[in-house]
Amino acid sequence: MRALFPGRFQPFHKGHMKVVEWALERAEELIVVVGSAQESHTLQNPMTAGERVLAIRRALELEGVELRRVYIIPVPDILMNSAWVAHVKTYVPPFEAVVARNPLVRLLFEEAGYRVLEPPPFEREKYVATNIRALMMTGGNWEEYVPEGVAEVIKELGIIERMRRLMQKD
Ligand code: NAP
Repeated sequence: MRALFPGRFQPFHKGHMKVVEWALERAEELIVVVGSAQESHTLQNPMTAGERVLAIRRALELEGVELRRVYIIPVPDILMNSAWVAHVKTYVPPFEAVVARNPLVRLLFEEAGYRVLEPPPFEREKYVATNIRALMMTGGNWEEYVPEGVAEVIKELGIIERMRRLMQKD
């Protein structure tokens, strides 16, 4: 069984990591869809799709996840929710199930006839990407909330500096 896990992953945090591990206990292979792939260089979406791919791959590698079981594929958004499932399908290998908690994602894949697996909320109140980005902007301890590999890539690529520049006013 191959499953699909869509997310924006701005950034990929420890909650997402737990979902990946949970999914790989239930599926042979997992497709991590890096959604909103067209977005980058904003405070809400600081990282490019390619940077997110690098961060996710490094995190999985350092956590000992078998990379041969995982595909990481960027998919841009479209302005038509009703056609999104078909759009995603053109970018990824065939899959039988979807791993999601996001209500819109669940609804769209269920309407398209897919089995949707709902992971438990892994410390959901603690691992919130919006809060992690706020810590990144204000010099807080954001590293505590992301896997080591993600922290490495964020620092290597200068993402914190990018966000601070985006915050600057004339
Ligand atoms: P996300 O916030 O990065 O989260 C990804 C998934 O992980 C969600 O199902 C989320 O559930 C789950 N999650 C996060 N932290 C968790 C934790 N601690 N424990 C368990 N589960 C956790 O991304 P998202 O907003 O769901 O991403 C959906 C992507 O699909 C976006 O890029 C969106 O633009 C795209 N999309 C596009 C279209 C279109 O183009 N028309 C339509 C639909 C979706 P929660 O709900 O609990 O956060």
